[in-house]
Amino acid sequence: MELSRRLSSRGYRRTRQRDAVFDVLAENAGRPMKAEEVLVLAKEKAPGIGIATVYRALELFVELGVAQQVHLHERSQHYEVDTGHHHHYMVCVSCGSREQLDACTMDKLEDVIKDETDFLVTSHCLGLWGYCSSCLPGKA
Ligand SMILES: [Zn+2]
Ligand SMILES: [Zn+2]
Ligand SMILES: [Zn+2]
Repeated sequence: MELSRRLSSRGYRRTRQRDAVFDVLAENAGRPMKAEEVLVLAKEKAPGIGIATVYRALELFVELGVAQQVHLHERSQHYEVDTGHHHHYMVCVSCGSREQLDACTMDKLEDVIKDETDFLVTSHCLGLWGYCSSCLPGKA
């Protein structure tokens, strides 16, 4: 399993609590979660796990490249399992739901920046807000 390999390659062991945190992320792929949300579900798998352990596991997973931080322009940091697939999220301003968007044309903009400036872009963020299909204004 990928997690075992990544952990052991860096001298970390699998623990029931780390497994619980990773399983929660993996079972909720495509749904960025706050540490507090991870904690609630991880407790079902590893009773006794605390928020500090969840945070440490999440940071470790990010460092190992099996999870990533999701930039949602909200106060708290969100995490998700790292699928290696670049994507963004569209956020409904009415119900708060988040929909994954796989298309990203920012590389075209990065080409323009490369051609026209001396700036080296290494990452980008893209915030998209609006209405999901159930919340479209005017919908009965
Ligand atoms: Zn909505
Ligand atoms: Zn992008
Ligand atoms: Zn941003």
